[in-house]
Amino acid sequence: MRPTIALLLLLAAPLARADDTAAISTAVQGDIARHVHDLGSRNGWVSLDALDYLSYFGRAAVPALVDGLASPSSNARVLACVALARIPDARSIPALVSALDDKAGLELNVLSDDGETLHPVYDPPEHSVKQQAQIALQTITGKRYPKKEDWEAWWAKEGTGFLVPAPRVREWPKLPSQARWLKGVKICLDPGHGGDRGKQGFKRGLTYLSEADLNLRVARYLRDLLVKAGATIVMTREGDQDVDLKERCRIAGRNEVDFFLSVHHNWSPVFDRVETTTWYHLTPDHQPASLDLARAVQEEVAKVTVEDSEESARAAGLRSDGLMYEKAGFGVLRDLPPEIPGALCEVTYYSSFSMERKLRDLEFNRTEAWALFLGLVRYMAAGIPRAELVSSKDDLVLQVKDGLEEHGEWSKPWKVFSEHTLVKLDGKVVSHDYDPTTGKIRVAGSQVASGEHQLEVVLVNLNGNHSWPKRIRFSR
Ligand SMILES: [Zn+2]
Repeated sequence: MRPTIALLLLLAAPLARADDTAAISTAVQGDIARHVHDLGSRNGWVSLDALDYLSYFGRAAVPALVDGLASPSSNARVLACVALARIPDARSIPALVSALDDKAGLELNVLSDDGETLHPVYDPPEHSVKQQAQIALQTITGKRYPKKEDWEAWWAKEGTGFLVPAPRVREWPKLPSQARWLKGVKICLDPGHGGDRGKQGFKRGLTYLSEADLNLRVARYLRDLLVKAGATIVMTREGDQDVDLKERCRIAGRNEVDFFLSVHHNWSPVFDRVETTTWYHLTPDHQPASLDLARAVQEEVAKVTVEDSEESARAAGLRSDGLMYEKAGFGVLRDLPPEIPGALCEVTYYSSFSMERKLRDLEFNRTEAWALFLGLVRYMAAGIPRAELVSSKDDLVLQVKDGLEEHGEWSKPWKVFSEHTLVKLDGKVVSHDYDPTTGKIRVAGSQVASGEHQLEVVLVNLNGNHSWPKRIRFSR
């Protein structure tokens, strides 16, 4: 670090807002640093993509971007100035002032027709560090000084009292009223893959868009929406990490989430495939609640990805993972604890060149997240039926809830299909009586020995939603 930067940073220290970075995990910090590093990519697609995405992290990205101004790559330095202009923060001012001496330029590369050589898009020195630092300083401060000395003098005099403008926050559309049914629900979001970028032939499109990155980006937007709706979200990864499939399932289990959704994008040798597919484990019988979840997600996501075509007419969109791996299915669905329903959505295909270009657009990623969100809203709005154990003294008595009782205007009798009601005691189906007027299930006490037991009650409500496969444990 040059002495002037060190001095100015010291002056700026009282303004630094450590809380912005302290609140984020090291995985997210690592991910930010990775995107700052990508600013210096020799592939123009990759560096401009990282530039656009860095704003998402807001002020948490500022320390890494200030470090980026000292990068040996002039591309990283120019683009760090552009990114800092988009996230107004007093901490970046001294470093930007120092960068006013930096005459190096941006060299965005394109590949030649034959793919043999890289050559710059512009004749250098187009877009110098100096020029972009000047623009950033003007944007952040609202002031215009022609010379570096003038900026230094202003900062020395007024820096401590300078108030940064509020960052521009990209708002979501108003949440639908039905989003209220997500409140208090605990969801595990699993951004597929990660940590594979060092490997030859990792999952990516023609312009180097990484599936793992894309999945994380969409999952992050989805997480933000769900948190806004009052849900609790557990992510299986927060950065570009290789998380073992079994570990992803363990994360869902440890956190006792209500359900699990894995977010992926697909690849096919058929270049123009773009349809959405949502996958369930093996057979519909394996876990009906997973299918309800998959269906709701599929129906909403397909609205933004699927065009009316022969392919979309043939494909219902819901697929068994047994089609990919006979008997075993997908590891990430197979190893989920039996009490947690789960589905895997392949939102669309990055192997389609036109779709890959769309997928590089953050607005489209937000559209994907919004569609996934509406799928989860639709799922929860249909209500999750459940049974509560009222008495286990003699006969077992359970109270049925259709999952709609809090939705208002719904009155008894309970809206569940009595003929689809199933009671399993220690994994075995037992006979029961169901009284639709009271919503009470009764299991004769003679069927229950003394000791520890677990009960599972399968219910289907009028919207077709099955109960979550949670076990009720009791002893007698
Ligand atoms: Zn994938």
